[in-house]
Amino acid sequence: MAHDPVVAPTVRAAKHLEPRFVFEEAEAAADAKLAAYGRKPNVLFVLFDDVGWGDFGCYGGGVAVGAPTPNIDKLARDGKLLTSCYSEPSCTPSRASIMTGRLPMRHGLMRPPMYGEQGGLQGEITIAQLLSDAGYVTQCVGKWHMGENRESQPQHVGFDDFYGFLSVSDMYTEWRDPYFFPEIVYSEERTKWIENQPFSKCFVHAEKGGEIEEVEEVTIPVLSLLDDKWCTYSQDFIRRMASLRGTPDERPWFLYHNTRGTHFDNYPHPDWLGKSPAKHPYKDALMELDDIVGRLVQTLEETGQLDDTIIFVTSDNGPEMETWPDSAYSPFRSSKGSTWEGGQRVPGVLSWRGMIEPGQATDGIFSLMDFFPTLLRLAGATGSIPDDRYIDGVDQTSFFLGEGAESNRKYLYYWLGTTFSAVRCGEYKMMLASTTDDDRDIQNSGGFSGVTQKYTYSRLYNLYLDPKEQHSYMIRKLPYLDAFTAGLTTHFTSFAQYPAKQVVGGVG
Ligand code: CA
Repeated sequence: MAHDPVVAPTVRAAKHLEPRFVFEEAEAAADAKLAAYGRKPNVLFVLFDDVGWGDFGCYGGGVAVGAPTPNIDKLARDGKLLTSCYSEPSCTPSRASIMTGRLPMRHGLMRPPMYGEQGGLQGEITIAQLLSDAGYVTQCVGKWHMGENRESQPQHVGFDDFYGFLSVSDMYTEWRDPYFFPEIVYSEERTKWIENQPFSKCFVHAEKGGEIEEVEEVTIPVLSLLDDKWCTYSQDFIRRMASLRGTPDERPWFLYHNTRGTHFDNYPHPDWLGKSPAKHPYKDALMELDDIVGRLVQTLEETGQLDDTIIFVTSDNGPEMETWPDSAYSPFRSSKGSTWEGGQRVPGVLSWRGMIEPGQATDGIFSLMDFFPTLLRLAGATGSIPDDRYIDGVDQTSFFLGEGAESNRKYLYYWLGTTFSAVRCGEYKMMLASTTDDDRDIQNSGGFSGVTQKYTYSRLYNLYLDPKEQHSYMIRKLPYLDAFTAGLTTHFTSFAQYPAKQVVGGVG
């Protein structure tokens, strides 16, 4: 009989760990598969910026929306395509949740720090640090955006090497572009004023424990080349790791590759300018990202590492729709910044040749936080998960490795800054608060410009029947309240035992 996530009970292994479904047979099969494999796999984690759930061909976009994505589509055919993969509502909260396996209310980064604003990962324990402790070479490339302060920089939180920028794409270029900021570009005084502000204007390089070295100032022409340069850097890393195979220096590796694209504003690489059928900069940039995935996978293949590398391609949040048409495609309600599905449902393409059965699509709930315990299990380092703090990610190893396997996650909790917003279980989502309840945001505007509102009575949406979340089903479906109340009690109790933390963005 098929497992029913609404009905089935979860198991809590320890009080600081999120309860999860444990499927005895699937767990044993995963253990046997890993034992037969007998190595610590390499990890290639590709994180896009603001790419929408529907942008890739394998999610219904691609050719249909003027930007074919053949490489990502192939990767999905060769592996597992996740349709209920969740980020947090915006960039920094998501990235810090991937790094720590914890919700923004626990690591404290509720929204992105901007223009040199202080605040970051200090005090947190990252997946990079724990994989490094487990013998991995750890490489971070591209966008960071988890704090510019020294103790939050990648080379101080577990990465051996970092080549990329510390902040977010628009901050490097928007004030340089006369179309968006004529009042700065055409004023010497204002140009000087912004140039003297203490925020990072260069992309940088750093080595473990060392200081940041500036590589180049990120002007608009420089920005258009960044994704290509970063890809080359990652390809060189993959080749260097391959050259150590069979030597005493051979080690497994974790490559955390973060693209610049397709965050606004997009200035395509000259080789991609006008190359998409849409001829639009966003679509040109998206095609370049697809090509980058192709290049990275090809380099793994050429160096004989494809069978030893788990690959995951995803996005840090839903589409940004306040910069339309420099924005993405999602069939869900609203966009980046919100807890409607459009804000948090992101693509998730998983591949590991020989270990993950090809050609699978699954709607099992998966949070990007789940990588934290899952990767540690694959690395044989589950014992290193810290027990002095709450870990919201759940181990999804059996979900990853089993053919047709079920997700180990029962509940997905949505937070809108410091306001609790919603919980999903099975195909149902109960919402207690959201951004603006306005018909216009059904059509994907909204996001950061919305107003937080708490509902008098909670609402219930059936995400299979109503992916746009327009029809509250609550009054017809009251029996589900029990399942949700149990989930909420567990969740809120965890905050009583492990108090919330706020570093950046204290308001909802
Ligand atoms: Ca983002």
